[in-house]
Amino acid sequence: MKPAKFDYVSPSTVDAAIEALVASNGEGKVLAGGQSLLPLLNFRMARPAVLVDLNGIEGLSYIENRGDRIAIGALTRHCDLEHSALIASKLPVMSAAMRHVAHLAIRNRGTIGGSLSHADPAAELPMLAAFYEAAITVQGPEGRRTIAPEEFFVDALTNCLEPEEIVVEIEFPIMEQDGWAFEEVARRFGDFALASIAISIRRGASGLEAARVAVMGVADTPLRLRQAERELVAMRIDEGTPDRFSGIIASQVSPNGDIHGSAEYRKHLLAQLAKRALRTALAMKD
Ligand code: FAD
Repeated sequence: MKPAKFDYVSPSTVDAAIEALVASNGEGKVLAGGQSLLPLLNFRMARPAVLVDLNGIEGLSYIENRGDRIAIGALTRHCDLEHSALIASKLPVMSAAMRHVAHLAIRNRGTIGGSLSHADPAAELPMLAAFYEAAITVQGPEGRRTIAPEEFFVDALTNCLEPEEIVVEIEFPIMEQDGWAFEEVARRFGDFALASIAISIRRGASGLEAARVAVMGVADTPLRLRQAERELVAMRIDEGTPDRFSGIIASQVSPNGDIHGSAEYRKHLLAQLAKRALRTALAMKD
């Protein structure tokens, strides 16, 4: 199918893009990589009166080391994150996850701002935002504000942005970690995840001092599992820990079933991935 008729504007600044959105009276849509929006237009599931193309705005694509965090411009492409040496050394879980995002052609165009805004519950970057406790900075007619992922992702394919707001930057704090892992299963490599987990651990004098756990594909938004983190830190570390952790993860998610997998299957899958991920993270100590 072809999209319904729309006007197209290509502003050269964020301010001009916001002006165009304001002028559209809620009928405008931002275009970034187009990898999710264009199919929606073609199926006429979205019918914006105006497309506001961000691709002509300079200075929205960057990966910057700010000491204790990495700042990423909203127009940064998935392939830039995938191949960045800075991301690999400072945000290794992100580096590992990016290979699972769709296919090469899509990674060449798709952007981090687009992926977060699209808010697919089985997409890697929203889950990474939850995992790293990213700060999502958006700009609108009233200026800038920074939003935490737990507020930003409201529901499946739904974010908390006002119609005239644009994601401009995402900051990812650098985590101190002694071990980490990212595990995902999709029906075919590059498809959206059926289930996925990211883990980071920090060792203490006895056992673990801190843990971070986020999952996706098992709820309407990506989930940070804080209770599982606390239970993991309280655990004795021995050969049985990954099995016990797997049970904890299974007890803390209630996935919905769909045509790709039943609720029971997704829960079982996630529990197996949790076991594998923790084993990998713990093995990094040696
Ligand atoms: P666009 O398609 O341009 O926009 C998406 C939405 O976000 C639109 O509503 C748009 O208005 C809004 N938007 C875009 N940028 C901004 C901004 N800066 N501020 C506010 N709103 C904005 N993704 C995965 O994560 N994992 C996968 O496995 C995966 N598989 C895919 C497989 C296929 C076949 C396809 C077509 C896509 C897949 N994707 C996957 C999605 C892909 O990663 C998209 O690139 C991404 O979801 C959207 O990014 P985009 O830059 O293309 O955004």
